[in-house]
Amino acid sequence: MRVFSGIQPTGGLHIGNYLGAIKQFLELQETEECVFSVVDLHAITIPYNPQELQKNILDTTICYLAAGIDPEKSIVFVQSQIPEHAELAWLLGTVTPTGDLLRMTQYKEKSKQFKGKIGAGILNYPILMAADILLYKTELVPVGQDQDQHVELTRTIARRFNKQFGKTFPEPKSRFLGPGAKIMALNDPKKKMSKSIPQSCLYLFDEPEVIRKKIMSAVTDTGKVVRYDPKKKPGISNLLVIYSLFSQKPIKEIEKKFKGSGYAKFKKSLADLVVKNLEPLQKKRKELLKREVYVKEILERGRKKAQAIAQSTIKEVKRKMGLE
Ligand code: ATP
Ligand code: MG
Repeated sequence: MRVFSGIQPTGGLHIGNYLGAIKQFLELQETEECVFSVVDLHAITIPYNPQELQKNILDTTICYLAAGIDPEKSIVFVQSQIPEHAELAWLLGTVTPTGDLLRMTQYKEKSKQFKGKIGAGILNYPILMAADILLYKTELVPVGQDQDQHVELTRTIARRFNKQFGKTFPEPKSRFLGPGAKIMALNDPKKKMSKSIPQSCLYLFDEPEVIRKKIMSAVTDTGKVVRYDPKKKPGISNLLVIYSLFSQKPIKEIEKKFKGSGYAKFKKSLADLVVKNLEPLQKKRKELLKREVYVKEILERGRKKAQAIAQSTIKEVKRKMGLE
């Protein structure tokens, strides 16, 4: 099965990106044909610093590799290096329902967050995402819960295109990793953790002391009982999910372990667990930071492989649309 997913180079990766998306990539690359992109054309839809973009692209690539994405098994490349992404986005825009774009949660939230500082890119974001996915005739898209709406719109776009121009694209499905699909913000457990809100994040590459500090001060409630109850205790529930995913133990067992011990003891134990789990990734990243040439070679190899698929799809699409 062809698998596609991407991560934006909008800042350091956080544990939500890891537990919601990258963990799935690691599983899938063992058996499926995976294409993973650093989606820089998406990253420029919110305010950013052009001087920092190349560094962020390299950083995101290094995160993929440090987390265990294997360039021998998966195609890893930078979106803007394959012009067919932008080209297909334009073509698919002609069959995309405008009303659907206006309804997207990400569009509503980000246009509110960056009011007056962004353009139509954020509205058209899902068309580019559909192009990313459909360019590789993808069947499965491993993502966090927040992206489900965009994958659903991708199916609509594929269906409309197929109907109008003849069967071309499979209708891709999203894939989630159970409770990891939506890790909540440390500072506000009713919102999702997001790179574009730095206070919300526990970064994969935060120093151990920073991880401890952030977990100890994560927003919870005034109670004392460590119990999973996302409605009444969103903060503690989020920390329990993180504990469960990093320890590979069911939430029930963790609740039992911390029965009667209060939040501070639970948080301290969680901090130890996260620090221990992230240690190998952090070590690998430090090594990769010193090997820029090697990382760029991987991206170049990825570009070549991705381009072969992209060019063949765009040719077919243009022919079907009467452009060739
Ligand atoms: P931004 O704020 O710039 O949108 P982000 O944190 O949402 O950053 P993306 O690059 O947009 O990160 O998303 C990369 C992948 O991580 C996507 O599959 C997305 O669904 C997933 N993801 C993002 N945030 C979370 C989260 N809090 N929990 C689980 N998965 C997440
Ligand atoms: Mg996002």
